[in-house]
Amino acid sequence: MPIATTNPATGQVLKTYEAMPEEEIDAAIERADLAFRQLHGTTVEQRGRWLTAAADLLEAERDATARLMTTEMGKTYAAARAEVTKCATACRFYAANAAAFLADEPADAPAVKATRAFVRYQPIGPVLAVMPWNFPLWQVMRFAAPALMAGNTGLLKHASNVPQTALLLEDLFRRAGFPEGAFTTLLVGSEAVDRILSDPRVRAATLTGSERAGRSIAQIAGRELKKTVLELGGSDPFVVMPSADLDRAAEVATTARCQNNGQSCIAAKRFIVHTDVFDAFAERFAANMSALRVGDPMDDDTDVGPLASEGGRDEIHAQVRDAVDRGATVLCGGEPPAGPGWYYPPTVVTDLTPQMRMWREEVFGPVAGLYRVSSYDEAIEVANGTSFGLGSNAWTRDPDEQERFATDLDAGNVFVNGMTTSFPELPFGGVKNSGYGRELSALGMREFCNTKTVWVGEGAASAGAGAHAE
Ligand code: NAP
Repeated sequence: MPIATTNPATGQVLKTYEAMPEEEIDAAIERADLAFRQLHGTTVEQRGRWLTAAADLLEAERDATARLMTTEMGKTYAAARAEVTKCATACRFYAANAAAFLADEPADAPAVKATRAFVRYQPIGPVLAVMPWNFPLWQVMRFAAPALMAGNTGLLKHASNVPQTALLLEDLFRRAGFPEGAFTTLLVGSEAVDRILSDPRVRAATLTGSERAGRSIAQIAGRELKKTVLELGGSDPFVVMPSADLDRAAEVATTARCQNNGQSCIAAKRFIVHTDVFDAFAERFAANMSALRVGDPMDDDTDVGPLASEGGRDEIHAQVRDAVDRGATVLCGGEPPAGPGWYYPPTVVTDLTPQMRMWREEVFGPVAGLYRVSSYDEAIEVANGTSFGLGSNAWTRDPDEQERFATDLDAGNVFVNGMTTSFPELPFGGVKNSGYGRELSALGMREFCNTKTVWVGEGAASAGAGAHAE
């Protein structure tokens, strides 16, 4: 894949880059390793000041950064601005909470026959981050903010279609005060990942992306015995039960499917509706989807911009055609418009069967599959009947059903009467083919820490577990 900025609204190639030669990659890994040693001598408070400076820069430069993201991958300018703000919030969250997340945890010393025992969280070294284009700032920040605060260093291999956003991130952390090499962008294609992850100085990897890329990185990491966190695809269910507030559910369903032009891992993709309210929900949902304005992502009146690539648009149209050819019904949308740009209309498809690609595969665009079920048990069966398990949504005002959904949905999160979203305060990640490991919260920070057990016998100084440099 060429490393280039191509505007999805026009198809115009705006800037291309040569991939970094191997010597430059090796030099960057060396700098990341040196910077890791340098961070070892810094306190969490110092790193917090740098991360707060990064938040200040993000906020001060929000509009220009947002414009760049819109130009590189087509999200609406409004969504891009919100993404920048969300990144600044996450930086401030980790700057404020890292000391508590990294604090030594005392253990029951007498039980383990020690005078003193505790758990200490320490950074592990340079971590490779392979990231996707769909939230080009946020996906990176939710790895980088906790990793840098913990004292790790980051090597970013970003998606090939967002090179300018990738370079902006390196520049941001440098200007915020982090030492040279603490966060480096490697302009490389995916074929370079094997070499980077095989380097003994690189201690772990995190990938947000497709199942295919996840399998590839997990194989390399397995061979090299390195830790990975994988945030992969999803085909999130959105279940609507008879007691649901239908107007609200149909409104949120529309946003949950079409936010980020339908290209979100945690977008609701399969709408599983109880037969008692199926027709009423379908009517409202199709009307809302049809009313969305598709167009120039820089225009404040636009709800849905272009897809990020021509290949991505062709893929979702092929999935819709496959369903229609096998007997599915299109309630709205279904035909890409003529003209420049990789646009696709908000689309609702129903009468789906397991033989159709849409039933089994992730649909990465503004296309909703609508399923009719006749009971709670059938809703769970359809919702869990996928190889993915990232997010899930259930709409019901019945407290018993709310509890049951929380337990029965086989996913990394369950949002009841709301759409799946991520917060720095809550763990984020999936099960099954949606990956493993968690980002965000204290758990995300500790994924790239050595959870070190410290046991001290007789003869030790009497001080308890205390502050330490990292
Ligand atoms: P992708 O093709 O897997 O690309 C993601 C990143 O992986 C890019 O940097 C890409 O580099 C790299 N890559 C691709 N193939 C690779 C390989 N064989 N070995 C090493 N690196 C490889 O994903 P995408 O299709 O662009 O992004 C959409 C997917 O990401 C969807 O499935 C979506 O659900 C998922 N996603 C998941 C989450 C989550 O949190 N779980 C969040 C966002 C997106 P190049 O660009 O150079 O190919």
